[in-house]
Amino acid sequence: PSYSSAKNSLGGSRSSEQFGKFASMSEHSDEHRQHLSHPMQGPGIRTATSSTRSADEQLKNTDPHLVELVTNEIINQGPPVDWNDIAGLDLPKAIVKEEVLWPMLGPDVFSALPRSILLFGPQGTGKTLLGRCIASQLGAAFFRISGSALVTKWLGEGEKIVHASFLVARCRQPSVIFISEIDMLLSSQLSEENPVNRIKTEFLMQLDRVLTSSEDQIVIICSTSKPEEIDESVRRYFMKRLLIPLPDSTARHQIIIQLLSQHNYCLNDKEVALLVQRTEGLSGLDVARLCHDAAVGPLHAMQGTDLSAIMPNQLRPVTYQDFENVFCKIQPSTSQKELDMYIEWNKMFGCSQ
Ligand code: ADP
Repeated sequence: PSYSSAKNSLGGSRSSEQFGKFASMSEHSDEHRQHLSHPMQGPGIRTATSSTRSADEQLKNTDPHLVELVTNEIINQGPPVDWNDIAGLDLPKAIVKEEVLWPMLGPDVFSALPRSILLFGPQGTGKTLLGRCIASQLGAAFFRISGSALVTKWLGEGEKIVHASFLVARCRQPSVIFISEIDMLLSSQLSEENPVNRIKTEFLMQLDRVLTSSEDQIVIICSTSKPEEIDESVRRYFMKRLLIPLPDSTARHQIIIQLLSQHNYCLNDKEVALLVQRTEGLSGLDVARLCHDAAVGPLHAMQGTDLSAIMPNQLRPVTYQDFENVFCKIQPSTSQKELDMYIEWNKMFGCSQ
C-alpha cells in the first residue's frame, strides 16, 4: 500500500467521514459525559493544535511500512467500553474518573493533569479493559502496544515502532497509548548493552515530551503484573499508580451473570452463589474462561449431531453441572505470594491504598 493511502487514513484533515470510528466513539463518549454527575464547563476536548500539525508534517517523512504497521496492528478498533463493562474495581475507577477524566473533559488545563498511569496487578484483571474504557470516555483513539512484542517480535525496530506510534497518536489526538507488560521495557535488570535499552530510551523521551507539553492531548497508560521489576528511577514518571486487584465476590458475581445472560441457562440463586464462592482467587479472565467453557457443555451433549444444523433454541440450557465439568481445567494463576507483593508495592508506591 502506498504512503499516501496510509497518510490519508491518519493525519491531515479531520472529517468525520475519514474518522468514522473516531466520530462514533466521540458521540458515544458525549453520551457518557452527560451521565457523569460532574459539573462540566467548557467544550471538553480541544481541537487540532500546532502539535497535531507538526506531527502531520513529520508523518510525511516517516517510513510508510511503520505507519501501516501502527495502523493495522497498534490502533485498536474494538467496540467502545463502558464503565459497566468493567466489574468491580470501584476504587481505581473512581480515581480515574475524578482525577484524570473529569479534569480533562473540563476547561483547558491539560498540562497539569495526570497523563501517565501505571496499572499494576495480576494478569487478566481488567487493566486493558480499563485502558479501553478511558479511551472510549475521552472519545480518543486507542493505541495498544504489547511490551513483549516490542522486545521479541519487533526487536530491532522496536524504538521506531514506539516513535511512529507516538507520532500517529499526535496526529489523531486525543489519543490513549496503552503499553502492556511495560516491565519488559523498564526493567531494572537490563544490562547496558541490551538492545531493549534503545526502546526504553525512545519511550521515556516520548513520555517526557507528552508530560511536558501543554498541547498534546495524549494519555499514556502502562500495565504490568511485575511492578517490582520497574526501575525505580522511572517509577516517578507515572503520575498515577493504581492497583488492579483480583475481582471480589461482587465483581465475580457480575462477570458470571453478565456472561451467562448471553446464553440460555438454568441455575438458581444458590448455584450462582456457589459459583461465586468457588471462583475465589481467580482473575476476571479465568472466570470468563470458566463461563465460556461451561457454555459449550450443551453443545457437547449434542455430539454426533450435525452442529451446523442446530438452532440455538434446540440446545438445552447451561446448568451447574456444566460448570462442575470444567472447574478442574481452571487454576488460579496468581499465588498468595504475588498477591502479598502487590499489596506491599501498593503501600509503598501506589496511589490507591
Ligand atoms: P489485563 O489487561 O489485566 O491482563 P484484560 O483487561 O485484558 O486483563 O481482561 C481480559 C478479559 O478478562 C476481559 O476481556 C474480560 O473478558 C475479562 N475480565 C477481566 N477483568 C474483568 C473485569 N474486572 N470485569 C469484566 N471482565 C473482566
